[in-house]
Amino acid sequence: MAEVLVLAERAKPRATCALLTVARRLGTPAAVLGGPADPAARALLGRFGAATIYSVTAPEVAAHPVAARVEMLGELARRRPAAILIASGRDGLEIAGRVAVRLDSGVLIDVVDVAAGPDGPVATQSVQGGAYEVESRVVRGVPILAVRTEHITVAPAPVTPTVSVVRVPFSDRVRAVRGRTVPGDLATAAVIVAGGRGVGSEAGFDLVRRLAAALDGVPAGSHAAAEQGWCPREMQVDQVGTIVHPSLYLALGISGSLRHRSGMHGAGTVVAIDRDPAAPIFQLSDLGAVGDVHEVVPELLAEIERRRAQPVIFVEE
Ligand SMILES: Cc1cc2nc3c(=O)[nH]c(=O)nc-3n(C[C@H](O)[C@H](O)[C@H](O)COP(=O)(O)OP(=O)(O)OC[C@H]3O[C@@H](n4cnc5c(N)ncnc54)[C@H](O)[C@@H]3O)c2cc1C
Repeated sequence: MAEVLVLAERAKPRATCALLTVARRLGTPAAVLGGPADPAARALLGRFGAATIYSVTAPEVAAHPVAARVEMLGELARRRPAAILIASGRDGLEIAGRVAVRLDSGVLIDVVDVAAGPDGPVATQSVQGGAYEVESRVVRGVPILAVRTEHITVAPAPVTPTVSVVRVPFSDRVRAVRGRTVPGDLATAAVIVAGGRGVGSEAGFDLVRRLAAALDGVPAGSHAAAEQGWCPREMQVDQVGTIVHPSLYLALGISGSLRHRSGMHGAGTVVAIDRDPAAPIFQLSDLGAVGDVHEVVPELLAEIERRRAQPVIFVEE
């Protein structure tokens, strides 16, 4: 059976195991790992069926995470894999797109399920914010699939992996061309506080940042907030920005347009604050406050501060 390359990420063990679970349906899973295949990595990747671990230990791997992974997968694609699987997320989508360009291959994103077909992998894609599912197949080059791994049920299938240390001739392409400050990893954040047009101004957006900090969360913005320049594009939640899956999502002055919902419908608990009781965001929120963000949020901040100041005493019975 042909190999299926899985981009393994130490920081995302569940996502990596989900990709390996999918890869087993398509061929022989081979994990592509940045850094050494230490015993913990070997044990985890082997438990989920990685027959081979391709380990790339060059310094570029840590220095240029996205570009180096593009080079690694580009190099290993010479082995003519049946498919390349990458976990979605901001970096994952960028890597998938860049590898596709490099290999002149087709790429499928928003993949929520994969099955083996007679002519290669058949991917189920969730489109229009989950309103439709379509089945698609790559018809050119090595199929590259960016998988939303939270939709995959992870199942172990233990093997003992063979470790192969790979030398990648990193080209001049692996160079930092631009630096940017990213306020936090939105794609994986557990708590997100997002602000929309309703915060009114850049100064108003400060409430979003303060509430996010108070809740140990990550701030974010709607398309409208990013468009106004109140927050950078990297903080934009929607189907073309970042798709988020926090346990808690607070929406401040966000109406809940379809495109915004596409980016956050995977959130656990949604809390909305909006002055319009008819705002669509209230239809998908678990808890809603109708009011002005400039009044409600300072009260919320004060309450958080008050509770933080009070010691909580647990009494064991
Ligand atoms: C050319 C173009 C391109 C677009 N591209 C995208 C895209 O790529 N992605 C995308 O998601 N959308 C896009 N949109 C659509 C639009 O920008 C989205 O609908 C956006 O998500 C709306 O953001 P919002 O909810 O912050 O603003 P709004 O829909 O304007 O909602 C603001 C909310 O704040 C409330 N509010 C106002 N003042 C207060 C206050 N003081 N206190 C409390 N609540 C208050 C209002 O009641 C309202 O519900 C595009 C639109 C255009 C025209």
